[in-house]
Amino acid sequence: MAAKQHKLHQTHIEVGQHTIGEGSVNVIAGPCAVESEEQLFAIAKEVSALGINFLRGGAYKPRTSPYDFQGLGKKGLQLLKKAADTFNLKIVTEVLGSSLIEEVYPYADILQVGSRNMKNYQFLKELGRLDKPILLKRGMSSTIKEWLLAAEYILLSGNEKVILCERGIRTFDDSVRNTMDIAAIPLVKELSHLPVIADPSQGTGKRSLIQPVSAAAIAAGADGLMIEVHNQPEEALSDGEQSIDFNQLRTMMPALKQLAASVNKTFNTSEKIHETV
Ligand code: PEP
Ligand code: MN
Repeated sequence: MAAKQHKLHQTHIEVGQHTIGEGSVNVIAGPCAVESEEQLFAIAKEVSALGINFLRGGAYKPRTSPYDFQGLGKKGLQLLKKAADTFNLKIVTEVLGSSLIEEVYPYADILQVGSRNMKNYQFLKELGRLDKPILLKRGMSSTIKEWLLAAEYILLSGNEKVILCERGIRTFDDSVRNTMDIAAIPLVKELSHLPVIADPSQGTGKRSLIQPVSAAAIAAGADGLMIEVHNQPEEALSDGEQSIDFNQLRTMMPALKQLAASVNKTFNTSEKIHETV
């Protein structure tokens, strides 16, 4: 069902008044993890001021070490909702497992499935019964075939709103956190009708690489980007080294907009006027 021959047209996904796919580039930006109201509101305000429509932020975090910050949980979800309502943003947040679907569902506009869960097939089947879009990250050691089959689990259970997200894979090279597989983007677009976005933050692990790799992803045909942004990256409770600051985001947005135009894509940003909080 994820295969291109199954459908004549590329799938596009409506989220409120926004469309993912269909010749456009959407940016999803926000912190790796929701840390506090001050942090999230500062970031949401900046993201919204730049016309970005989607706010990311983990409330439940899949950390490698159980001793690291695990996220604010329900409080984090509530803060995401408050920030999204204030700044007119849509929420993308990770659901860590079956037992959390019920809790996360009402807050998320798009439910993120993390790299570590891409092969949790029972969980994917449950997400397939939902009516909200699922952002499916590529497993860090998964082939493209395995990734598309994971998407198939969701589609087969009835949810056709699947967004694929390339977030880098593990290779022999440890000079970057992950090796961003840029070729996966046009290849998946050849094989599947589903929208594909890129996450250069997990994909590189390095702040200075976010802009060039974002540009490469757009040039390669990505339908969007997921980018980690922090008001004080050096103080971040997770993924600070790969989080860009506001200045970098401000520089990057017009450059990416220009690039999107050069590959005949619309850069989906909104002009927003909001009260200062
Ligand atoms: C994230 O987006 O913060 C994250 C944990 O992503 P991934 O599942 O790709 O590692
Ligand atoms: Mn992260």
